[in-house]
Amino acid sequence: MNLCVRILAVTTIGLVSVVNLLTLNADHHQKNLGYSDTPIIPGQKWRVHDGTRPQPQIVKPGATFSHLAPPPDDAAALFDGTDLKHFEKGDGSPAGWKVENGFMEVVPGSGTIRTRSHFSDFQLHLEFATPQEVKGNSQGRGNSGVIVFGDFEVQILDSYRNPTYPDGQAGALYGQQPPRVNASTPPGTWQSYDIIFENARWENGKLVKKANVTVLHNGVLIHHKQEFNGPSLHRQVGQYGKPKTKGPIVLQDHGNPMRFRNIWIREIKDYDQIADPKK
Ligand code: MG
Repeated sequence: MNLCVRILAVTTIGLVSVVNLLTLNADHHQKNLGYSDTPIIPGQKWRVHDGTRPQPQIVKPGATFSHLAPPPDDAAALFDGTDLKHFEKGDGSPAGWKVENGFMEVVPGSGTIRTRSHFSDFQLHLEFATPQEVKGNSQGRGNSGVIVFGDFEVQILDSYRNPTYPDGQAGALYGQQPPRVNASTPPGTWQSYDIIFENARWENGKLVKKANVTVLHNGVLIHHKQEFNGPSLHRQVGQYGKPKTKGPIVLQDHGNPMRFRNIWIREIKDYDQIADPKK
């Protein structure tokens, strides 16, 4: 081997080593995003919060999608920017979040809030913003959630260039199913969820159909009639309990000053209903 060839060979081996090292580091990093000692999710090959699960592909949504658009006239406004009268704490006392400039903001530590009204099958619109000032990472950054009945969480997280375990990122059915794609926009920007929720069905006290959701994140479909295996739990697989025909919509205080605005809900009506004679 002449000198030139020898140098080339050594350099190539060096490059290959560096590439291998980078790949190893990436694998190591990905594994460290989640857990490897959690149960397998029923019907899937992944563990709960599996760090090795593929990261959802990033999709850049359109510039705006129904931001501050007025609700349809058969919707119930849950938050129109003025007060928290439709919400309460878990113990029924007044919600402790602050309202200013047309949005509500989590006061960290003040507690999770829930709607006073209860719902079954519904279409929900809400807008949220993660803190503009980025603090923390992974699950510690811009964490909240829409938890239907206090059981089924559609995760809210700052998932803009913030890797975490995929079943815990923004739009994930927490601990069960990552979104099909990651449609998150940068910290501080307003984002929207449109959630269509179909409650589980029971017959004679026996579960015959699991709850499912369809979710648009910033106008991008991220779940389509995706079932919840059971209630959302950290590091565990949830099981359906007693029949629950109605429940509140819960917004999570996870210690980050998250903002919400323009929240409204429509109960899903069946086909061929007699029209309201007043209309
Ligand atoms: Mg959460």
